[in-house]
Amino acid sequence: MHYSSYHSVDVVNGEGTRCTLFVSGCEHACKGCYNQSTWRVDAGHLFTQTLEDLIIAELNDTRIKRRGLSLSGGDPLHPANIEAILRLVKRVKTECIGKDIWLWTGYKLDELSDAQQQVVKYIDVLIDGKFEQSLADPALKWRGSANQVVHNLTGKASNV
Ligand code: SF4
Repeated sequence: MHYSSYHSVDVVNGEGTRCTLFVSGCEHACKGCYNQSTWRVDAGHLFTQTLEDLIIAELNDTRIKRRGLSLSGGDPLHPANIEAILRLVKRVKTECIGKDIWLWTGYKLDELSDAQQQVVKYIDVLIDGKFEQSLADPALKWRGSANQVVHNLTGKASNV
């Protein structure tokens, strides 16, 4: 997997203070996408074991308390990303007790493949659907257009 950026302290992508990873690879080609540089699966940097370990360590860092991990992109559920994302979310849930995981995807929750659903088992809040420019609204919370849905899968989000 490749990624475009990693933010170890982020307060804008999900509730609370978070670690946020923007992965590379997206096949949705939404008109008006702000992240076109992340469409290619090999864009950006290689996601290494070192970065995976750093994310786990930072989620457990008690000096700057993070509420959880946010995964965006690109699309974390792009088929090329499933293996690495599944490994990461499994580690978060076993090694970072109490942390939540938010994930943004252009796929619809009810249309996911079996492999994509394996990842969703570990996700607390899933924001799904392509960005629709005609339905864009900057007043929307956690999403860019009105067709997208915030699924509070485990009830951990407090204000969605
Ligand atoms: S799903 Fe997101 S990253 Fe992919 S094209 Fe649409 S807006 Fe851009």
